[in-house]
Amino acid sequence: MRCCRRAFLALAKGGGCLYTVPMKKTGLVLLLLVFSLSGCVGDAAPVRRTVFAMDTVMNLSVYGADADHALAAAEAELHRLDTLLARGTADSAVYAYNHGETPVDAELAELIAQADTIAAATGGAFDPYLGAALDLWGFGSGAGERRVPASSELATAPLLLDLGGIAKGLAGERVRALLCAYRVSGAVLDLGGDVAVLGDKPDGSLWRVALRDPANKSDYLGTLETEGDVYIATSGVYERYFEENGVRYHHILDPKTRRPAESDLVSATVVCESGVWADALATACCVLGTDGALALRERLAGDVDFDLILVTDDSLVWYTTDFEPKQGSPYRYEHIS
Ligand code: AMP
Ligand code: MG
Repeated sequence: MRCCRRAFLALAKGGGCLYTVPMKKTGLVLLLLVFSLSGCVGDAAPVRRTVFAMDTVMNLSVYGADADHALAAAEAELHRLDTLLARGTADSAVYAYNHGETPVDAELAELIAQADTIAAATGGAFDPYLGAALDLWGFGSGAGERRVPASSELATAPLLLDLGGIAKGLAGERVRALLCAYRVSGAVLDLGGDVAVLGDKPDGSLWRVALRDPANKSDYLGTLETEGDVYIATSGVYERYFEENGVRYHHILDPKTRRPAESDLVSATVVCESGVWADALATACCVLGTDGALALRERLAGDVDFDLILVTDDSLVWYTTDFEPKQGSPYRYEHIS
């Protein structure tokens, strides 16, 4: 599988959406498409819908003539995926899998295979079988109180499938495909911190996505400019946590210890064409830390290309992509080419 970096949209791209060809491309391409885009290009205002799924408030903005129908289908798909993956819900495929039911749901089996591939690619930093350990910490779905489990409990916790690390990325990917089928011209899907972008803005300008400041929800680190068909996933140790005896315990576990990862990163943003990879890699990078994340990017280059924006615990922001730091920000910024 292959993700891509930035200016990767082309008519010929297999499985892509015809309507994702940037309007800035050659006049020939523009002319070819103008006719079929009629009714889309002029729709300057997006149609918006807010959906609550996967324990997250999601804001979907869609441009195009059939945006209303596309959004209704997107909402249904988000709820369907929620039901498929919710580990704590008795009618979910993951629940059935964890209770030994056979046969395994075919769609889930594919996802498990993909999660296993990502686990291998990240040297185990992404681990889809942390369900029981997450429950012990109280971070599992429907799990009990948040507490620090004993080492013996963690050591003997069984392997339970938990796809929380790819759920949103999968949702972004699936909804993007659905919107393509409805021939929308462009969309921004805010999936609660993660953002999936599809196609073009009606005026042909690039999408601008602001990255949240991990230390301050109402502020931002800087902005990314991107063409369509990317997924921007952010994992942060500030997202879900509790404190006990002055120590903060967060929800991203280091599979080696089954304890909250102790890397130098407070957040990792991954920009990749694939939502599932982006989502999983962001979690893995939080475990691996700056050096490990950059090494992983090098190692996977050519197979899974992605960009990184990493924020360290001493307020340094490393970025490998076109990223515009916020002016006057208290962070220090380093570009890695
Ligand atoms: P995210 O906030 O996108 O990084 O996803 C975190 C979610 O992934 C957690 O709520 C868990 O369900 C799961 N998770 C935590 N640690 C890991 C890990 N090391 N590998 C895979 N999934 C994890
Ligand atoms: Mg994620």
